[in-house]
Amino acid sequence: MASDLSEHIQQTVMVDSHEHLRMEDVWLQDGPGDVLSDLFFVPYDGGDLVTAGADDQDVNRLADHTAGDIESRFAPVADTWEAMQLTGFGEAVRLHAKLIYDMEQITVPAMAAAQPRLEQLRQPDQRLRLLRDEAKLDHVQVDNLCWACEPDESDPDFFLYDLNWRTFCNGGIEIETPYEAVGIWRGIETETGITVTDLKSLQEAMEAIFSLYGRRAIAVKSLHAYDRTLLWRERSDHDAERALGAVLAGPNKADETDRLCLGDWCLARGVELAIEYDLPFKIHTGYLARNLPMMVHHLQAGHLCELLIRYPQARFVLMHIAYPYNDELVAIAKHFPNVWVDLCWAWSCNPHVSAKFVRNFLHAVPSNKLFAFGGDTIWPTRSYVYSVQARKWLTKALEAEVCDGNLTEQQAMDVATRLMRRNQLDCFDVEGTRTAVRQAMRITM
Ligand SMILES: [Zn+2]
Repeated sequence: MASDLSEHIQQTVMVDSHEHLRMEDVWLQDGPGDVLSDLFFVPYDGGDLVTAGADDQDVNRLADHTAGDIESRFAPVADTWEAMQLTGFGEAVRLHAKLIYDMEQITVPAMAAAQPRLEQLRQPDQRLRLLRDEAKLDHVQVDNLCWACEPDESDPDFFLYDLNWRTFCNGGIEIETPYEAVGIWRGIETETGITVTDLKSLQEAMEAIFSLYGRRAIAVKSLHAYDRTLLWRERSDHDAERALGAVLAGPNKADETDRLCLGDWCLARGVELAIEYDLPFKIHTGYLARNLPMMVHHLQAGHLCELLIRYPQARFVLMHIAYPYNDELVAIAKHFPNVWVDLCWAWSCNPHVSAKFVRNFLHAVPSNKLFAFGGDTIWPTRSYVYSVQARKWLTKALEAEVCDGNLTEQQAMDVATRLMRRNQLDCFDVEGTRTAVRQAMRITM
């Protein structure tokens, strides 16, 4: 029989503090073409398949329904799928099959038979329904990898957007390339009308981006850990000006030292603007997806300590529990009043470690500093699945605390409410963002 605690965790309307959800029209027009491409989310599940020995190209074909029928695409990875079933990503695939498609086993006939269900889900408003009604989410915070936080017409109160600062943190400014799946990435000059020629104009352009989107962003976000070390230090204007000169001189003129210098300088300006606009600053820490080149020691949240010390008035949200440096992150969260910790993506990367993390955290850090959930994926079907996975493992963690006599069941329910929504609603100005988004919609109408 379900405990009151487990029932409470099932029913609580949760904040989703991190997704990369594609817009409604992309889901309808270019969403997964068949059940196989919905079941395996290549950036994560594909990573485990490759680690298990699958061929990279075979894995990529899983997402591409035009590359062959289900049988011919699934057969080359079937053995490696068998091997990865127990990982957190593997668990999510199995949950996905069961919850979305009512499949006990992933087989070619079962996937083919479930096709009408996928077609039903790729209809107008199903994306919102899956997230709001099935996943029971209060709202989702989406990083669509660009600055623009355009109102999402499918429900502007529900889909809130991060202002992405990654390129700046990498010491790059030449972002004219549209991000394929989003299509609204505009270069700095198109966006702001400012030509960057020196540090002063770069700072003006950054300020212009915030004046365009800062009020309607829910947070600022950077995932520069994918491109460089998280190690940050304060940089002088003099050094940053020289580094910018190299970056502006053309492709391949700037070396890694220049990029790191300018990136650190830009990250600091972004944090200052986030403070001015009262926005939390989210930073990817820890593990990287899809077998990308991973220098694991670059990913420690501890590399950010100088930044955390430099800006005590900022609100830093350190994402993904910095796995595998999760213990270090507990100490950081315990120490710095300006740090919040987000379990987004962590449950699927390593659910067992994440459950232990929650227990460690609660006995070291005040419980108002932890966020329970973000799915970190692009399609609503998988976000829903990740929400189920998070609720499952959060329940295990808190039930173990009750079982060990550390918390009463009522205390565990109160903690669950905090982690699942109350802490996020305290940290992010959700209502202020919604008001600004609605104002933006009125202006453009
Ligand atoms: Zn992410």
